[in-house]
Amino acid sequence: MRGTLQARGRPEVSIVVPVFNEEASLPALFARLYGTLDRLGAPYECVFVDDGSRDRSAALLRGQQQARPAETRVVLFQRNFGQHAAILAGFEYAAGEIIVTLDADLQNPPEEIPRLIETARAGHDYVGTIRRGRQDHWARRWMSRAINIVRDRTTQIRLADQGCMLRAYSRAVVEAVNASPEVNTFIPALAYLYARDPAEIEVAHEPRRAGESKYSLYKLVRLNFDLITGFTAMPLQLFSMLGMAVSAIAGVFVAYLALRRLIVGPEVQGLFTLFGINFFLVGLALFGIGLIGEYVGRIYEQVRGRPRYLIAAVLDSTEARKPERETARAAEPARAPGREAAREASDV
Ligand code: UDP
Ligand code: MG
Repeated sequence: MRGTLQARGRPEVSIVVPVFNEEASLPALFARLYGTLDRLGAPYECVFVDDGSRDRSAALLRGQQQARPAETRVVLFQRNFGQHAAILAGFEYAAGEIIVTLDADLQNPPEEIPRLIETARAGHDYVGTIRRGRQDHWARRWMSRAINIVRDRTTQIRLADQGCMLRAYSRAVVEAVNASPEVNTFIPALAYLYARDPAEIEVAHEPRRAGESKYSLYKLVRLNFDLITGFTAMPLQLFSMLGMAVSAIAGVFVAYLALRRLIVGPEVQGLFTLFGINFFLVGLALFGIGLIGEYVGRIYEQVRGRPRYLIAAVLDSTEARKPERETARAAEPARAPGREAAREASDV
């Protein structure tokens, strides 16, 4: 088995799938994903990253790795580190020339992958996607739209639909992502920064049929802060500008009151208006402090330099590529983003 793999070298296509408590979706995912890729006729591999699932996902992935050892690698995290950390780990272990990310819940049909690969083969080093008829709750869609507008106005990143994870990246783009030591990031945006010739295509979108969304409102807000703070400091600049504007207006107001005091006499009316203005400004100041906190918190996480994720085990029969990766890590220890607690080869 290993001989044939070595002879075959790098696969053309790697599919990276983050998995968090997806036992209900995995059997259908395996059938549809491997079916589509087998029909593609190009050498491929699937890299599944189990993001600390507490259900039977890891066992199902282990089973799939044993059923299709030549095309399957599984990275098991020690605990939940988040979807984007899982994709980063998948990128570290993906060896393909074209790397496709896909959610495990089948909201993005795997049958769209050949079209992405076609576009990538045409020379685009980043193939983004736009969900046709997005099948999510209206509140999610509304929030995405709002963040899309903020991201569009404040960053250099031009994506029509940033939230769709079914995307294809070239090896060069993925390597640039791998070399980026950021702790909190948003992969489609980060990869876009490194792309030379991005393209976008429309893909189908389906409602989640099994299990439920793994994003709580809290996780979703955090992720969107990662997106904005990770790519622009403009919100902070807007705040200083707003601060200047408010000070200027307040200055004029104080001057007016002083003059009025001299000419007309003391003023006691309008107390509630003053309270109103005051509460508004206090709210604004709190928001500003919170915003600075978002940046400072991320700087703190970054300077602590803890690993972005911890790997409990890697199930991999394709030992051929292991030394290459480990040499790369040894040469650049400070950059190594994840740490392997143990390595488990499953050549059985
Ligand atoms: N996911 C993950 N870690 C997490 C949350 C989600 O690996 O902490 C995975 C999840 O298993 C799925 C993908 O990320 O494959 C997208 O998650 P989900 O479908 O729940 O997000 P939504 O579609 O609601 O945005
Ligand atoms: Mg989903």
